[in-house]
Amino acid sequence: MTAMHVDSHCIFCKIVAGHIPSRKAYEDDEFLVFHDIAPWAPVHLLVIPKTHIASLAETDPAEHAAMLGRMLALAPRLAKENGADNGFRTVINTGSDGGQEVYHLHMHVIGGPRPWAKG
Ligand code: AMP
Repeated sequence: MTAMHVDSHCIFCKIVAGHIPSRKAYEDDEFLVFHDIAPWAPVHLLVIPKTHIASLAETDPAEHAAMLGRMLALAPRLAKENGADNGFRTVINTGSDGGQEVYHLHMHVIGGPRPWAKG
């Protein structure tokens, strides 16, 4: 496994370290999944790598393609386990034009019965 990076100013690194609480939905050696604090929909999860990567734009295919594949591959299971039985959306906001607010790579998994608050 590659070295774990931590950014001491990053809110999601603080969640990984347990210094800021979160409602965890799943965890393994590589990823943490928790409920978004401001959900758009009945199911709104954030999947993050535990290591600090600022955004999708910072990834390198040679180093990160397999990790990104594993991250995406978690989505169907997470959706199902959390009650999004009828479809879901996966979103990765990247950079300022992409609407990224937290600069620690994360994938939103959004679903559950409509109407949703957004989207
Ligand atoms: P993005 O615009 O893709 O960077 O989205 C960042 C997401 O992180 C937003 O949907 C926020 O509601 C969510 N968020 C920010 N702080 C927390 C937190 N402490 N716990 C859970 N979700 C958070």
